[in-house]
Amino acid sequence: GNGVDMELRAPICCILGHVDAGKTKLLDCIRRSNVQGGEAGGITQQIGATYLPVENIRERTSLKAETMESLDLLKHRNVRFIVALNKVDRLYGWKTCINAPIAKALKNQTDDVQREFKWRVITQLMEKGFNAALYYENKKLKQVVNIVPTIAVSGEGIPDLLLLLVRWVPKIMMERLTYVNTVQCTVLEVNEDKDFGTTIDVVLINGALRKGDRIVVCTKRGPVTTNIRYLLTPPMKELKVKGVYRHHEELKAAQGVKIAVRGLQHAMAGTSLIVVKPGDDMERAEAAAMQEISKAISLINEDERGPVHKQDVMKATAMLKRKEEYVAILAFDVKVMPEAFELAAESGVKIFMADTVYKLVDSFTDHINKLKE
Ligand code: GDP
Repeated sequence: GNGVDMELRAPICCILGHVDAGKTKLLDCIRRSNVQGGEAGGITQQIGATYLPVENIRERTSLKAETMESLDLLKHRNVRFIVALNKVDRLYGWKTCINAPIAKALKNQTDDVQREFKWRVITQLMEKGFNAALYYENKKLKQVVNIVPTIAVSGEGIPDLLLLLVRWVPKIMMERLTYVNTVQCTVLEVNEDKDFGTTIDVVLINGALRKGDRIVVCTKRGPVTTNIRYLLTPPMKELKVKGVYRHHEELKAAQGVKIAVRGLQHAMAGTSLIVVKPGDDMERAEAAAMQEISKAISLINEDERGPVHKQDVMKATAMLKRKEEYVAILAFDVKVMPEAFELAAESGVKIFMADTVYKLVDSFTDHINKLKE
């Protein structure tokens, strides 16, 4: 029409919460219903877990504190959010209604359960100390935080969560979703893939990436300039099948992308990926990368000093689901707090302590070898 072309990109959704809140289950549930529903309602084709720089969130006092800090971080950074109040089935006497909208599921409950539900929700909201309401009672979308009760294990409230996202996002953040050409891209994770070698998972927030693009990436050993060998996305229907990826010549924001690259084993999560076009100032790109590296390292160093706390053990337990070898803490010349020892013994986290690096490495290597036997 009038010559004003406004292209929109997909919003980027992150799931934050303390350990065992149900983040993984929630994603599983969303993926499943998304596949089953044939991606009805234009819900995005790819759902990848993307992370805010959680390194910034130090768990200080308790699990709950971590959630509060996540909320503070979101507010501070002016990130829009909704709160999924998960595990509603913990209410005594709850009757399961698989994948039902929450209002329908509630109607199916006894008066006692419904009363308990209302009371609990209200208490939770008061505790959180911010302006929030059950999403279906919320009349001020922009000012009041939406709460969606969910049960990630049986799907209650998940339709509400998806519908709310689809309807609410365009209303509150249309301007922010205008597509721009300048590449804005953040590294999430580095992996070794048996087919592709080193890969980095990135979230492409704006702009486009092409196979063969020259890129500068922040690594622990300084900025590395390399080329995109393969541009990959995981096919939705085979998320669980590792190694089956779709190849692309070009990908446009916003989406999660897996990039196969050489020389990026030490890429740093949370830093930017920079694309350099022919004629671009290489030195400037590398200087920008160097600046990010220094900033990231200064954050990490601050974190690494001091004794091992219960919270560190808690973090290590998250690895129980992934690889047994990783459920370990190597305490080099630092104290371990008594509560940390206690929790470690309870949860099966191994703590290795030594005042010389060799001893530390030796005992850890012994441990790994024993596991392999
Ligand atoms: P994450 O650490 O936040 O990713 O948490 P998980 O998704 O791994 O869930 C932690 C545990 O809580 C698992 O045993 C889940 O089965 C369980 N869980 C997750 N959501 C619910 C829920 O809505 N109700 C109940 N009863 N259990 C849940």
